[in-house]
Amino acid sequence: MRVGIVGGGITGLATHHYLRERGVESVVFEADDRPGGVIRSDRIEGRVLDFGPQRTRLTPSVAGLVEDLGLGDELREAADVPLYVYHHGRLRRVPQTPREAVTTDLISWPAKLRVLLEPLTGPAREGETVEEFLTRTFGSEVARYYFGPLYGGLYGSHPDEMPMEHSLSRALDSAGIEGSVLLSVAKKVLRGREAPPVASFGDGLGRLPEALAEAHAPRVRLGEPVQSVERDAAGFALETSDDEVRVDRLVVTTPADVTADLFADLAPDTASALRELNYNPQVLVHLCADADLTGAGYQVQYDEDFRTLGATWNASLLDRDGVYTCYLGGSRNPAMVEWSDDRLESVASEEFEAITGHPARALSVHRLPRGMPAYDRSWTALDRIDAPEGVDLCTNYTARAGIPGRVREAKAVADRLADAG
Ligand SMILES: Cc1cc2nc3c(=O)[nH]c(=O)nc-3n(C[C@H](O)[C@H](O)[C@H](O)COP(=O)(O)OP(=O)(O)OC[C@H]3O[C@@H](n4cnc5c(N)ncnc54)[C@H](O)[C@@H]3O)c2cc1C
Repeated sequence: MRVGIVGGGITGLATHHYLRERGVESVVFEADDRPGGVIRSDRIEGRVLDFGPQRTRLTPSVAGLVEDLGLGDELREAADVPLYVYHHGRLRRVPQTPREAVTTDLISWPAKLRVLLEPLTGPAREGETVEEFLTRTFGSEVARYYFGPLYGGLYGSHPDEMPMEHSLSRALDSAGIEGSVLLSVAKKVLRGREAPPVASFGDGLGRLPEALAEAHAPRVRLGEPVQSVERDAAGFALETSDDEVRVDRLVVTTPADVTADLFADLAPDTASALRELNYNPQVLVHLCADADLTGAGYQVQYDEDFRTLGATWNASLLDRDGVYTCYLGGSRNPAMVEWSDDRLESVASEEFEAITGHPARALSVHRLPRGMPAYDRSWTALDRIDAPEGVDLCTNYTARAGIPGRVREAKAVADRLADAG
């Protein structure tokens, strides 16, 4: 069996790695000249910047990849520092332990007591949005000032645009949380279970896909987009920019709109459903500040009058020489990806100063017209997506976004193919 993998982001590269580990022949086609997809790192003025994800949880599958690739010496564990939400005029620390939940000034005392009713409120109801679910279960303050900005902020979507079914319910399922969130978290705390550490590499997260591509070099074909896919007698004929290639099975890891183009003839109904899935346009502005702030960063509560969605404090989190990464755009201001660099740099640095009290200068502007999956109402089109026979879809519409989720799904798909072959 020969497997063709479309896309050399972390999902495609990890799928290839696991297939090779199981002795299955496979080949990756990546449109870009460099591997990694949205994971990308570079140095500007000697400082390491990440242009997509800034860190990953070192789950067992990510740690396994790091070990396989001999990247242990380059790994940098993140500092254990607080996270903030900007709300009502200042940064407020997000509670991460039961004690902090009691003492936090992010929510009022009546709101803290209201949380205790959560175990009595029942699971998500049909058609409920994330905002409606969180408000019904935890109360409106916790929904609006705590969970809402943290969860919606991950994707750049407002929680009232996100149906539970295609967003938080899936995340709770994959975290093994059934029933009460509060009781599940309490059980984990009592059993002393800690989340895997947060980490990156000395040269940024881009090191992971780069090392994967290097390890499998001849079979990772960079700068060679797949242009069409046709079914033939025993498998598929792929037309790439350079070649015509036959494979027996396909794993497709590309974003929904690209996959839709490839499936236009092969699976027209699935192609038209894929075209409906929204991704939020995002802009990352890297700033440099002599700020000495201690924390992982902040999310801006969505009723606040700022265009910045949030920021990662790379300087404190990953010891990155004065670097701060601001996120703009999202579902609130999607047109910002069209703004000039100058305008984006001014907004990001002015708002950073207004929020933290520290002046900053811009190092770079990076646009992601197709950033995070929005998991908004458009994702109800998922119900009409059906992978054609012989094709595995392995992407953020078949499982969760995020490096740990992508690597976990890559392993599951590779194991399934190896067992079947
Ligand atoms: C701004 C941002 C911040 C994030 N922050 C975090 C974080 O802090 N931690 C975390 O764990 N996750 C984070 N994520 C999510 C995580 O980065 C993604 O879920 C993951 O990297 C997606 O990988 P992928 O391989 O599935 O997709 P992609 O990275 O999109 O890869 C798809 C690949 O397909 C290629 N391609 C496109 N067309 C073709 C074609 N025709 N032929 C061949 N190849 C093609 C593309 O060039 C690309 O390389 C973030 C994402 C974004 C956008």
